Amino acid sequence: MTYDPNYETVIGLEVHAQMLTRSKIFCGCPTTFGSEANGQICPVCAAFPGVLPVLNTELVRMAIKTGLAIRGTIRHHSEFARKNYFYPDLPAGYQISQFELPIIEGGELIIVAQDGVPKRIGMTRIHMEVDAGKSLHEGIQGASWVDLNRTGTPLLEIVSEPDLGTAQEAGDYLKKLRSILRYLQVCDGNMEEGSFRCDANVSVRKRGATRLGTRTELKNLNSIRNVMRAIEYEAERQIDALESGIPVVQETRLWDANQNVTRSMRGKEEAHDYRYFPEPDLPPLIISQQRIEAIREQLPELPDAKGQRFMSQLGLSEYDAGVLTASREMAMFFEETVRAGAQPKAAANWISVELLGRLNREGLDIEQSRVTPVHLGRLLVLIQNNEISGKMAKDVFDLMLASGTGPDQIVQERGLKQVSDSVAIGAIIDQVLAQNPQQVQQFRQGKTKVIGFLVGQVMKASQGQANPATVNALLQEKLSG
Ligand code: ADP
Ligand code: MG
Ligand code: ZN
Repeated sequence: MTYDPNYETVIGLEVHAQMLTRSKIFCGCPTTFGSEANGQICPVCAAFPGVLPVLNTELVRMAIKTGLAIRGTIRHHSEFARKNYFYPDLPAGYQISQFELPIIEGGELIIVAQDGVPKRIGMTRIHMEVDAGKSLHEGIQGASWVDLNRTGTPLLEIVSEPDLGTAQEAGDYLKKLRSILRYLQVCDGNMEEGSFRCDANVSVRKRGATRLGTRTELKNLNSIRNVMRAIEYEAERQIDALESGIPVVQETRLWDANQNVTRSMRGKEEAHDYRYFPEPDLPPLIISQQRIEAIREQLPELPDAKGQRFMSQLGLSEYDAGVLTASREMAMFFEETVRAGAQPKAAANWISVELLGRLNREGLDIEQSRVTPVHLGRLLVLIQNNEISGKMAKDVFDLMLASGTGPDQIVQERGLKQVSDSVAIGAIIDQVLAQNPQQVQQFRQGKTKVIGFLVGQVMKASQGQANPATVNALLQEKLSG
């Protein structure tokens, strides 16, 4: 298969994000992951006859926060609807969702496109719905089991407009969305555990065409990398089909991560008729403007705003600002390092190059760093005050990372403090000059470059502890004297 520049790809994403409420959407059962099968269910989430749902207010608050963060419109009046289908992991025989009147409409998310220019991706809607249970097949002979612990877990379904043009943009969109949800602390964004799931809708069309092509919907995408690979494969598959005169059919396809292909799962003819109707057990959800404003006031600073502030107030480059706001934890680490006295640019450099480089090598996240922001801040203060050299600081940093010890203790224990005292350095210089009369003569005859050699000798004699700036100044003085 080849990439055909005459075509363009059109992508719209649907994300299901599990909300971090303490209890389920319509009952008081806990939502914790990984407990014993069917260990956290009650008559409500197991759908016994006659039970009634009560909406979790915490979820409504999280949905409003998310809506405000993407600059969507929060509906003052939204409604729940029943989506009917039969499946063993859905004991009620229907899912409570929102259909015609979702809690959030519209909105946008800004990504940085390949050319470095910001690109606006429109948001269609966000609605609340309930998750289903899980069927278990693996390792069970002659039967399937059902675990209803996940039944009743609150989800937000977040739907984008078909505004994404490449697999890369889709990946960037997902990273941005996940980062916003994590900043808001409404979703942990863990794709492997299924708390952040994505279906990708993909179509292709001749470049410049106004009408959208027929789309397929891709499922079974459990990492951002797989979303991107599946989109790339699917776009090429559709282009090849069209070029061979075969129309694309609207269908759901599953990504096979082992074979790197998508396979047809069900066509449009087999698509469900969900017979939606208004949920009779729940009243319409009424949200006052006052409630929305109260939540708006409590919104944390979000990645874009934080990045702008890092650039305008702290003088960071756009690139550094992007790296340091990619996650809430990263931004917190940076801000605490600066609060501990480090100059912002130095802190940005040390975090993005030295710290992240080493953490990546060990496969660790910034939350797992043994160097704390306070310790890093202190290390940078030692450099700023000329108490240790930049070169020594890297050795100290390695020791900090290995042991979790603070920089002062390491510098003291190893006797690494930089010497700026001109008397002590002057004595070393006199010794070096006496040992190298030839170079001294060369310098005095105008071959001033030889000073580099002499600086090196002094640094060596001081075991790297002399302050290079002091050495330079004193040498100049003595040689010209
Ligand atoms: P459905 O319930 O059929 O999945 P939704 O409205 O929930 O429909 O989601 C449709 C998704 O597909 C949206 O993200 C939308 O942007 C995207 N989409 C719609 N038409 C196309 C198309 N022709 N090509 C690519 N994506 C599309
Ligand atoms: Mg869909
Ligand atoms: Zn329950």
